[in-house]
Amino acid sequence: MISGEKVWDIMVLGGGPAGLTAAIYGSRAGHSVLVLEKMILGGEITLTSQVDNYPGFPEGISGPELGELMEKQARRFGTEIELNAEIKEADLEEKPIRLETTKSTYYAKKLIISTGTVSRALEVPGEEKLKGKGISYCASCDAMFYRDKEVAVIGGGDSAVEEAVFLTRFASKVYLVHRRHQLRAVKSLQEQLFNNSKIEFLRDTVVQEIKGESRVEGLELRDREKSYHLSVQGVFVYIGRLPQSGPYKNQLETDENGFIVTDEEMRTSISGVLAAGDIRNKIFRQVSTAVGDGAIAAYTASRELQLG
Ligand code: NAP
Repeated sequence: MISGEKVWDIMVLGGGPAGLTAAIYGSRAGHSVLVLEKMILGGEITLTSQVDNYPGFPEGISGPELGELMEKQARRFGTEIELNAEIKEADLEEKPIRLETTKSTYYAKKLIISTGTVSRALEVPGEEKLKGKGISYCASCDAMFYRDKEVAVIGGGDSAVEEAVFLTRFASKVYLVHRRHQLRAVKSLQEQLFNNSKIEFLRDTVVQEIKGESRVEGLELRDREKSYHLSVQGVFVYIGRLPQSGPYKNQLETDENGFIVTDEEMRTSISGVLAAGDIRNKIFRQVSTAVGDGAIAAYTASRELQLG
């Protein structure tokens, strides 16, 4: 490294709940903290219309608003944030750790990776062509474009059911298309779904193709008995998430699905590199568990910094 370059005590990759919590704890402990975010702060919760199970907000809070509050809190303790900084190259074994981004090269004593996940694609014909032309992976971003229109949500987990219910505020009709008979979503969400007269649940149904010339016009579906066309103007895909790793992916130990393996103190297989939040291999991906991971990661980093 060039002498005179700033070496951050803690560099955090990804500005979602895990990363921003790590930043709050790290900067509040007196360390210099830089958060590098490739797009916008808030992480996956910015795709969530309403967060109802994060303690402290008895009436719920919108995902983007919760993200903004976390950012404000991190900045209050001196965290610095660099947006639109996408990692191009990284050598995690080098000390200080060096990260080259689309903006600049950064050095840090400790790195906390909290880059979260990205939407899984359906991978059916028509999806690539019609992305952004009636296919969306974010109901809270795009629901308003479907006022009085008919839409389909694909998936059977918490996200699909939650967003199907949210979409009924705008759309005239919402089809929930799920490949199995039973939903995976928690019971309370299922109750909201089944009590909503605007939603029709299409179970045991697989999407074969998304149809449309310049915009989505419908879905080719197959259930246990037949194949048929369903006319819809919008398709919202919520079929799970994939880990969002950078060019350092092969340097770290991951599980078979690419999620980073850590110990209980959020240490990865490389010394000085920690991971927190949804990118970690864990059983329960929630804002509350991401926040817990972020706090532990910052605590571990801080203790290691003090020990030298
Ligand atoms: P998820 O729980 O992994 O569910 C994915 C759903 O998509 C499953 O129903 C799955 O079907 C279906 N699926 C997967 N691949 C598919 C394919 N190729 N074609 C069609 N369907 C496919 O994902 P998620 O709903 O995004 O939730 C992710 C995590 O976030 C979970 O831990 C969830 O609890 C959490 N979350 C929590 C809340 C909340 O607490 N309010 C809200 C949102 C998300 P099968 O059921 O057949 O596998």
